[in-house]
Amino acid sequence: MSITDDEARTLLRESALRATAPRLAVLRVLAEAPNPLSHTEVLECLGKTDWDPATIYRNLIKLRDAGVALVASHAHGMDRYELAHGDGHHPHFVCEGCGRVACLPAGLTASMSMEGPWATSIQNAMVQLRGECPDCLAKA
Ligand SMILES: [Zn+2]
Ligand SMILES: [Zn+2]
Repeated sequence: MSITDDEARTLLRESALRATAPRLAVLRVLAEAPNPLSHTEVLECLGKTDWDPATIYRNLIKLRDAGVALVASHAHGMDRYELAHGDGHHPHFVCEGCGRVACLPAGLTASMSMEGPWATSIQNAMVQLRGECPDCLAKA
């Protein structure tokens, strides 16, 4: 999924954030990434820029605090961010081999329905599946 500059600006405006150049750039990187990204990965995607890593980090935090982005995974002690809108609540797969974190289809856990006091908790739970990704399995 990718977003246009206009869409990125609208998204920021709706969240009462100013559309600064680094903020727009971070937003577009997150929108284009198929998986949640760590701060380091965002820097890699941005390539060579005039912004220092601390600026990019502050913008990630700002986007998170405003609810535009969310921390999809804390795997391996690293926060990985993705846009909060999009295909909504979906589980993530954390590879024990190479450390990648992948988004999985939301339907995968849709059948985890339940009634009673835990129903809402389970619906909103951050589902992280752990194991070896297809690439690592192929290498083994
Ligand atoms: Zn792997
Ligand atoms: Zn995801």
